[in-house]
Amino acid sequence: MSLKLLSSAVISIAAIYSAPVRADNVVNLNTTASTQSIAQLTGDPSARSTSGRDLQVISFEPKAALNKNTPRLLIQGGLHGNEGEASKFVLWLAGRFARGESPLNQLSNQNVAFDFLPYANPDGHSNGTRSNIRGVNLNRNFGILWGISRENPGAEKFSEAETQAIRRLFAKRHYTAAIDVHGYVNWVVGPSAPEVIKAHGTKIDSTKVNAYRRWMNVLTTQAAALPGYKVKNGADLGDGGAFEDWAFWSQGTYAYCLELESAKRFAYASNEDSPKQTGSIAANGGQVDLFLRYELFVYRTLAKAIDLAKDPSMPTLAGK
Ligand SMILES: [Zn+2]
Repeated sequence: MSLKLLSSAVISIAAIYSAPVRADNVVNLNTTASTQSIAQLTGDPSARSTSGRDLQVISFEPKAALNKNTPRLLIQGGLHGNEGEASKFVLWLAGRFARGESPLNQLSNQNVAFDFLPYANPDGHSNGTRSNIRGVNLNRNFGILWGISRENPGAEKFSEAETQAIRRLFAKRHYTAAIDVHGYVNWVVGPSAPEVIKAHGTKIDSTKVNAYRRWMNVLTTQAAALPGYKVKNGADLGDGGAFEDWAFWSQGTYAYCLELESAKRFAYASNEDSPKQTGSIAANGGQVDLFLRYELFVYRTLAKAIDLAKDPSMPTLAGK
């Protein structure tokens, strides 16, 4: 699909889920766009939700030939089906990227491929439920620290169709970095500490521990731009089987969970907000668009993740 059709790719997925994305000002980037289900992308017809719904991925790839060193980034939302603002944010980001309006477009100059998965739990989205249709909290069903959970983590790790589909997607794409968007509390949730991972039987070498330290430093430093936010991790919260723990410790992907602080999109501005954001305040009754704040955090952390992955002194993480 040509970039001219980029906006229609975003529109088509939005139409599927009745979430409007406007697509004016399409710009001609050095990028091609497509919308495919994980089943299509992986060639695995079973890579669908429990009830058979597709998990749609909006992809943007550089026109230059992709190779194994091309950083590939995933931004996912809606793993909890009742956190609609998270899905809206992911769709909004994809639309901004499609129109060349996002800081993320600066990353595409470095030959970066993007995948946006706005509805990771389409049955839950359709039913308005946090869990999937079998009552399982999908963000407790991944394969690291599985079973430590205050909510139903499923019968075993990856017992659910949706987490299996995401695992297939990772096997195909080998993501450099991945963000799982949730709501609503002012937290960034990074990977759990290596001591905890080791204590639960997963072997980790020192290079990976080094990568962990550097990544947590990135998250802690950049979270300063999100007023009131704290950096947490799944183990400390009592939430094993989380996406970001599996993505980082098992897949070698620089990963975190971004919690949107509120189901409301606008809030009163803070001193940490950038001039670009501040400029929009007057238009919004003295309030700032939180999506712009989150977007800046997403951009900065992904840029750092690409740097970490390229650094020759860093370990090659699994699968890279
Ligand atoms: Zn959530």
